[in-house]
Amino acid sequence: MRVLITGAAGFLGSHLCDRFLAEGHSVIGMDNLLTGNTRNIAHLAGSPDFRFIRHDVTQYIYIAEPLDAVLHFASPASPIDYLKLPIQTLKVGALGTHNTLGLARAKGARFLLASTSEVYGDPLEHPQREDYNGNVDAVGPRGVYDEAKRYAEAMTMAYHRFHGVDTRIVRIFNTYGPRMRLDDGRVVPNFIGQALRGEPLTVYGDGAQTRSFQYASDLVEGIYRLLHSDFSDPVNIGTQDELSVAEFARLVNDLTGNTAGITFRRDERIKGDPQTRRPDSTRARTVLGWQPVVPLRDGLERTIAYFRSVL
Ligand code: UDP
Repeated sequence: MRVLITGAAGFLGSHLCDRFLAEGHSVIGMDNLLTGNTRNIAHLAGSPDFRFIRHDVTQYIYIAEPLDAVLHFASPASPIDYLKLPIQTLKVGALGTHNTLGLARAKGARFLLASTSEVYGDPLEHPQREDYNGNVDAVGPRGVYDEAKRYAEAMTMAYHRFHGVDTRIVRIFNTYGPRMRLDDGRVVPNFIGQALRGEPLTVYGDGAQTRSFQYASDLVEGIYRLLHSDFSDPVNIGTQDELSVAEFARLVNDLTGNTAGITFRRDERIKGDPQTRRPDSTRARTVLGWQPVVPLRDGLERTIAYFRSVL
């Protein structure tokens, strides 16, 4: 297969490039480097099956070669990124999804959209099943990301139903691993960075809010299976390893040997920060035969080693 991956220089995009190349496919990676970094794909330079194009997917995309699949992973994805880049976030979810779908249609390629657990907003149902419609505040600070991805899902289904494009939608839950940006503001790089510097971990609010953390390779496996399935409705990919943010902070301090403790920052929680988040993964299990295999402690140890090497 020849696949186009947008957001290729980002955290997840770069891991997907690696996986498709390892499976013997040919990959075109596209990124405008707004939040991505070529460091993440530097090891692919010179590979005969990989080509990088610096391009903003909100502009018309021209690819000469035939394509078998288009995976749309370009987007600012951490809360502080999309608060800083609200218009670009809306544009890449809206115009970027339209352009990548148009490209997939023109090439007769399969299309896979990176969607998010944020489509459930601050959920009133727990855990979140794919048929839960969510509790999103369109005009809150997170609305730019949540609504962009909800629009992207609607656009994807419209191309599927109206144009017959073969489409897939993955709803990605919190994912961590090597190549996350140390300064992207998310809880995993923030905590590990603080711990490795011997600083107290900053827990926003009272730390009772929960997240379920999956290791990047588990997510990539789920995405790879989804692309090769024939299932066009959204599929959650995430773990059942649900922890409160305060528990997560204690775990990071424990694994790094950080003795500086935890500081609670009651004022820093962004409005709309979901109180709970955990996927119902029945669909991924039954449709894809997928389940995560990397235990949280192992994944965190590998991620800590990575951040040590970049610090
Ligand atoms: N968080 C925190 N301290 C930090 C960064 C994040 O307590 O230094 C909290 C944040 O308020 C949220 C959770 O950790 O409740 C996960 O935040 P993240 O930015 O990783 O992404 P989200 O899951 O909210 O999209």
